[in-house]
Amino acid sequence: MSTTIPATLIPGDGIGPEVVSAAVRVLQATGIGFEWETVQAGLVALGKEGMPLPPNVLESVRRNRVALKGPTGTPVAGGHRSVNVEMRKTLDLYANVRPVHTMPGVKSRYEDVDIVVIRENTEDLYSGLEHVVVPGVVESLKIITEKASTRIAKYAFDYARKNGRKRVTAVHKANIMKLSDGLFLDCCRAVAKDYPEVTYDEMIVDNTCMQLVLDPTRFDMLLLENLYGDIVSDLCAGFIGGLGLAPGANIGDEAALFEAVHGSAPDIAGKNLANPMALILSAAMMLDHLGEQQAADRVRNAVHAVLKEGQKLTRDLGGTAGTTEIAEAIATKV
Ligand code: NAD
Repeated sequence: MSTTIPATLIPGDGIGPEVVSAAVRVLQATGIGFEWETVQAGLVALGKEGMPLPPNVLESVRRNRVALKGPTGTPVAGGHRSVNVEMRKTLDLYANVRPVHTMPGVKSRYEDVDIVVIRENTEDLYSGLEHVVVPGVVESLKIITEKASTRIAKYAFDYARKNGRKRVTAVHKANIMKLSDGLFLDCCRAVAKDYPEVTYDEMIVDNTCMQLVLDPTRFDMLLLENLYGDIVSDLCAGFIGGLGLAPGANIGDEAALFEAVHGSAPDIAGKNLANPMALILSAAMMLDHLGEQQAADRVRNAVHAVLKEGQKLTRDLGGTAGTTEIAEAIATKV
């Protein structure tokens, strides 16, 4: 008897609903039944319900323990706090996992890139602790704790062990932020001792960016605090053809939320131009998380096959196909 998996679906803003329905279409093609509980967060929820993150969203993710999410928009320099930051903190989704590897058939500046970015997801400058000290002077607090740093380091090394990765590079700025990034490094070093089979090294963040751009194939796994992780993962997405191909997962002990690295792309929203592959690959990570390895591999192989054929590509990859066409092409191959 086939069972269905209850899961939360958050369409989000901008291109969110388009890429989310594309991912749902592809998941449907795997034959694995999902019982989607659709809830609204972001600008859509703000318009309809007067708040960007209504309580039913968090309740739904807590209940179902797994969610697929489209991007949500956040106003710049004012307005509501980021829904993503709120969700990650409230649900304690502490590990942001962002794999980037060279895709077959995609023209990019580099070949053989295969990096997994592990980003701490709950603290750092994303704590939202900002205040005006006196007019003209603002303080923004960077919170780094032993607990969160040890937990993310353990996650990274466990991931390395489980996935046969050879090296973890902790990225920091402890030459300047000696206490905060110093504590982060202390925790990484202590954890690294328990994983003798994984090489551990450290690199200052600015140098890391330069080394990445010179030769990203030198890196295996990157372990970063929240802000560096956010910036460096977008940089890494650029190595493999852009944000349209970069998936992500937010993992906690009680729940997991899967979403692409990209944002709501208001410039192309509602035009059927968005590349749904990043969210479809995030959905494959969700299948992995649910223990549906075979289905996950079928989805990834289908994405790779469509890319390799090069007939149906969205505009970001030099093609003219629409979001829905790509979804159909991938679903057919699944
Ligand atoms: P963005 O990722 O939305 O867009 C950056 C560029 O990449 C744009 O040119 C866009 O058209 C392009 N792009 C992004 N995704 C694409 C896709 N799937 N296919 C083709 N092209 C794609 O970043 P931004 O413009 O800096 O941010 C827009 C909004 O998204 C902001 O409100 C920001 O706060 C929000 N955001 C949300 C998330 C999230 O929900 N996880 C992540 C990042 C940004």
